[in-house]
Amino acid sequence: MTGKGGLTKEQLKQAVCEAIDRHGNEIIELGETILHHPETGFNEGKTAAIVADKMRQIGLSPETGLALTGVKGRLRGTTPGPRLAFIGELDSLRTSDHPLADPHTGAAHSCGHNAQIAGMLGVAMGLSAIGATEHLAGELVFFAVPAEEFIDVEERLRRKEKGEIEFLLGKPELVAKGHFDDIDMAMMIHVGSHDQMSKRSYIADSSNGALVKQIRFFGRASHAGGAPQLGINALSAAMIALNAIHAQRESFYDQDTIRIHPIITKGGDAVSVVPAEVHMETFVRGGSRDAIIDANMKVDRCLRAGAMAMGAEVEINTIPGYLPQRNDRGMGEFFGANVEAMFGPGSFDIGGHRTGSTDMGDISHVMPTLHPYMGGATGGGHGADYAIAEPRLAYVEPAKQLALMAVDLLWDDAGAARDILKAWKPRMTKEAYLTFQRGTARTELYDGGKDI
Ligand SMILES: [Zn+2]
Ligand SMILES: [Zn+2]
Repeated sequence: MTGKGGLTKEQLKQAVCEAIDRHGNEIIELGETILHHPETGFNEGKTAAIVADKMRQIGLSPETGLALTGVKGRLRGTTPGPRLAFIGELDSLRTSDHPLADPHTGAAHSCGHNAQIAGMLGVAMGLSAIGATEHLAGELVFFAVPAEEFIDVEERLRRKEKGEIEFLLGKPELVAKGHFDDIDMAMMIHVGSHDQMSKRSYIADSSNGALVKQIRFFGRASHAGGAPQLGINALSAAMIALNAIHAQRESFYDQDTIRIHPIITKGGDAVSVVPAEVHMETFVRGGSRDAIIDANMKVDRCLRAGAMAMGAEVEINTIPGYLPQRNDRGMGEFFGANVEAMFGPGSFDIGGHRTGSTDMGDISHVMPTLHPYMGGATGGGHGADYAIAEPRLAYVEPAKQLALMAVDLLWDDAGAARDILKAWKPRMTKEAYLTFQRGTARTELYDGGKDI
């Protein structure tokens, strides 16, 4: 069928891809500028300003300061209908030995989120340049979001105490503040490393969720040489807890893909003093909410056991993290067909489970969501060798793939988007999601010496 002005769907797809190609150098420049100015989660002020400026330049009227740094603009189709969001994550990681790390903060784009922002702005530029929404129904929402990486726990807890944020990740915070209320479905494209993928693009069916734990063991200081028998060694308590956690691993089901990876962030004050305070952090990751809750209960048991063994105290702070990701198959089939049309048969893969986590998982509980990977980088994700190797593939091609999705889903009175929404059963209502997340937040102080 043809749309307005006799244009076919395929002609519109081609026109918007050509428009994006015409903006190719500008899109690459945006990606590279952000790459060279990395900012960590909830601190992405300069990156957010770049996004807002570009949105204003192309005639959108962006809302800014959403969950501190988020920026949202929109293009409306001819008639009301499904509202499809294209998401780009603003934040960098901290990888201080990365060659492009900020020398003051250690921030570096070692997860390639700069490419997401370039792609998200690129599709907005292409669609608005040719007035594509005159041929589409519903709305397109361009959404730059803060803080996908769960880092800087102490800094974010301070922000929480001051009331600046409730959740320590961007998307949960945006949901809580109502900034996803005017969106019906969402997608983003994450740049992937050629060293870690066999196809040009893939979508996993699912990925792990996670709880985050901040742990402090308290003992008693004393002279480590002269009178260790008078101290209570908090480091020993932590070590016993770590070994107890390791001993749990055979109690997990393989299909739950549990990942627990604690680190000690403070091991003592001075080598000549029995450690009186030891700090640990860990994620408790798993493939389902039930699996995460079960593993978390076991971790708490192990932490208490360490404290009890030494007569120490332990404070266990459990912080809501990521929900498991569930990609929408209907959206994924459109995406896969477009990738194969552009890059050839066999260039795309769908299925399987990833053991990393993303807060797109949270969004996937309340609306249809898609989180594919496309190549363009080399090196290890989160590593010092992670680099954008093919700027056109990393920055420009994702913009085109987003544009093709916009046309597929919103063409012909948004028939395809309406079908996906009709078949969609929410895993949780927004209210149930927020209740669950708030319910996982807990601080426990356990005195291991009290029963003795
Ligand atoms: Zn990452
Ligand atoms: Zn990432």
